[in-house]
Parts: sequence; C-alpha cells; structure tokens
Amino acid sequence: MSEKPLLEVKNLKQYFPIKGGVFGRTVNHVKAVDDISFSVFEGETVSIVGESGCGKSTTGRAILRLDNPYAGEVSFEGNDLLSLSKSEMRKKRKDLQIIFQDPYASLNPRQTVSQILEESLAIQNVVPRNERRQKIKELLETVGIGSHQIDRYPHEFSGGQRQRIGIARALSVNPKLIICDEAVSALDVSIQAQVLNLLKDLQRKFNLTYLFISHDLGVVRHISDRIIVMYLGKIVEIGDKKSLFENPQHPYTRALLSAIPSTNVVEEKRERIILKGDVPSPIDPPTGCRFHTRCPYAMDRCKTEEPKLHSVHGDEYKVACHLVEDGVVNYKELQTIY
Ligand code: SF4
Repeated sequence: MSEKPLLEVKNLKQYFPIKGGVFGRTVNHVKAVDDISFSVFEGETVSIVGESGCGKSTTGRAILRLDNPYAGEVSFEGNDLLSLSKSEMRKKRKDLQIIFQDPYASLNPRQTVSQILEESLAIQNVVPRNERRQKIKELLETVGIGSHQIDRYPHEFSGGQRQRIGIARALSVNPKLIICDEAVSALDVSIQAQVLNLLKDLQRKFNLTYLFISHDLGVVRHISDRIIVMYLGKIVEIGDKKSLFENPQHPYTRALLSAIPSTNVVEEKRERIILKGDVPSPIDPPTGCRFHTRCPYAMDRCKTEEPKLHSVHGDEYKVACHLVEDGVVNYKELQTIY
C-alpha cells in the first residue's frame, strides 16, 4: 500500500434541497451524507456498509460527481475533482469507473455487447477504431465470457454474465479506481461468490483499487481490506477488516454483524441484536448521536452531544460513540450498567 492516498474525501456533505411553498423555495434539505472524511490507498479495497438510506451510494455518486456534492473536498491522485469543469471531469472518469447494482438496467438492451463496450472505448479514445473489436474480445475473455458471444444482446445473458459485462465495460478504459455500488447484491449467493472472486483476480492483475459499497457485511468480509460503517449520513466506525469483525466497537456495527448467519458449526452461537424501529429521516435527523433512538445503550448525553470519531486500536481505527470514548466497551456488562 502506498503512503499517499489515491482517493481522499474530506468533510463531504451531500444535501438535497426540498422545495416547497408557492415560489418553490428551498424549505429544508435531505442530509444524505453529512460531513464524512476518509482515504483510499492504491491497491486496497475499502468497503462502505450500512442499511439502506445511510448515504453509502450517495457517497459513491458524489465522488464521481454524478451528483455534485453540496460541500467538502474530493481529491484523486492529489487533484481536486470538485474544481474540474464538466469536460475535464468526463476525461477524469477514465480513471474512476463505477459498476452498478442492476446490470440489466445499466446496459442498453438495444445494443450488442460489442456496441456497449465500443461506446466506452470510443468516448475515452482508449484504442484506435480498427483495434477495438479485438480489444473487446480480450475484455470478454478477461471477465470470463467467451469472445464468441460478442454480438449478443444483454437479454441473452444471465444476471451474473450481465454483471461481468458491466465489469468489462468499467475495465475497458483501464481505470485506477472502481466504485462497486451494490455490485453483487442482485445476484444469487453462488454467483455473488464467483463475481467477488473475479473482482479479486482483476484487482491483482491490473492493480485496481476498489471502493465497495454494500448493505451486507457478510459480502464485504471476503473482499475488503478496510471497512467504513455508515449510519444516517455519518461514519460511525472505520478500520481494518480483522479488528472490525473480531472486535466491533460501535453498537450499530455490532448489530449489523450479529445479523450475518454463521456458517461455522463450531463457532460460538452469536446473539442476534435486533434494532428497534426504523432508520430516522435524514431530513430531520436525531440530535446528538444519530443512532440514539435505536441504540440499546443510549444515555442522556447521547441525545444532545454528537460523538466524534476518535481512535481506538491505534490511530487508523476510529469509532464515534460516547461509550467507546469513555473506555466502556464490555457490552455484556453494559446491559446491567445502563
Ligand atoms: Fe449508543 Fe450513545 Fe454510543 Fe450513540 S453515542 S452509539 S447512542 S452509546
């Protein structure tokens, strides 16, 4: 892993205006992402996890400026992405690609695989026109689809194969960073494993860096180096995968982990933590700790004072929770204390 981050996100906010009244003025905002910072280093996989509505996909879209961020900084290889003009950003997208959840919706059903891949090669002018068909055949072989299928349409492929075509499209422009936005969520479990293995192989082969977005901690376990847990637009825990899985600190992370079915028969039976209620609205998020309305350990202080991310297990591992800040991390005892 190199010293300087490939991608650096600082104090990123993504607020979407809510219009109202006769004049259609902005009356409030949906605070989808609210002041988050993190880095991604070359060659690593950083995953962002959390329930639907936590702001993880919005973060991915804001980084790529598919929706321009409300505030903050995003730098890639030290260059400020938010100051680029539209055409400069379009060129920059050669280095930053995205794979979407629904491969069928993201592939034009009226185009053959060849046409779909040729389009992205042409936009970024990666290879001369007369070499493109050969390049497309190579790409298809790389992602495990026979090159003889080059003139087929998306509907002629299975879900897993369509996602492989989506991966081939992202790879076609030789990117450095790929944002995988719920890239395997729509696939059957066995196909998920195949696509995750493919992504890992491609990472090794092309020295790719991934920002992997998923609601499923079980999925990110197999691919991540580091994990970011988000709740209602905020980062609540960030650190290396091993520490996070072996010794999760934030009550929300603990609840997410407890929901992963165990496949190990000798593993101690995990106690399932059921969170009460729904995720509150990001229009009017709870004061203090945003998780306090659902946290089984919430104290009075949690209702008014927002916990900041602070380091545990060394500088790189951070958690935003008053209990952890106070050094109270034995959750079994906690149940009797609070
Ligand atoms: Fe729970 Fe309070 Fe920690 Fe928030 S700060 S997670 S409410 S204990």
